[in-house]
Amino acid sequence: MVSKLEGKVAIITGASSGIGEATAIALAAEGAKVVIAARRVERLEAVAKQIIDHGGQALSIVSDITDEAQAKNVIQKAHAEFGHIDILVNNAGISFPGRIENADPSNWRKMIDINVLALMYTTHIALPIFKAQKSGHIVNISSVAGRIARAGMAGYNVTKWGVNAFSEALRQEVYQDNIRVTIIEPGLVETEIDQHITDVVAKQEIEARRKAITPLQSEDIAAAIVYAVSQPQHVNVNEILIRPTQQD
Ligand code: NDP
Repeated sequence: MVSKLEGKVAIITGASSGIGEATAIALAAEGAKVVIAARRVERLEAVAKQIIDHGGQALSIVSDITDEAQAKNVIQKAHAEFGHIDILVNNAGISFPGRIENADPSNWRKMIDINVLALMYTTHIALPIFKAQKSGHIVNISSVAGRIARAGMAGYNVTKWGVNAFSEALRQEVYQDNIRVTIIEPGLVETEIDQHITDVVAKQEIEARRKAITPLQSEDIAAAIVYAVSQPQHVNVNEILIRPTQQD
């Protein structure tokens, strides 16, 4: 049986843990050659090894994509290695919840740098390649927080609202070139994302919210991404909103 993504090349940012890791593994299991990017070299290498050990193909590129030059390097290296790029999953991101009055503005800047600007850099660099190919699929990982604002989430809300706005404008700019754009909006997923939270109260609140329910697993989101990128070329799955069943 031919795998759904045989011959495709997929770049996944933030693939050293969580949703990005699960997505890289899931896309590779469907036959895609995956290019995985993140900063933590050992974690990235472990993901690559797991894929290769299961018969897949993986190229890891250690990079901090908040640096435009490093973001450019990821896309260009992938293109140079494989000669084409079919899927770009803009997944890398962080979350610093907390009320506005208590916020450390440097955390706002960090979120905007990775959640928004890095995604814009990789997209900007990949677009000429997709346009020349007359094909390509950009999957942007947003959040329920990109659709519903919540007290204590303002900074993160700003970034994910930005992802959604950028994605829809992008879709309108590229659909005539046969390029697809998908927004994925997960609810609470059990990953390492809370580990970086500096606001103690906000950390307790979000951990309590997650513990009170059965959260999503990274593999649940990876399955949605596989679904979106496996559709026939004339089908553009624009948006997928996925909450845990018990999430408010
Ligand atoms: P993780 O913390 O497990 O993964 C985040 C990934 O982003 C890591 O691989 C990390 O790698 C990478 N990353 C962070 N900063 C950079 C950087 N500067 N350059 C390159 N890579 C970077 O969290 P999740 O899997 O939960 O998060 C993935 C995405 O899902 C994010 O966009 C997040 O906003 C979104 N999301 C998560 C939800 C959840 O409940 N978990 C809900 C909704 C959306 P490294 O540190 O090695 O660089």
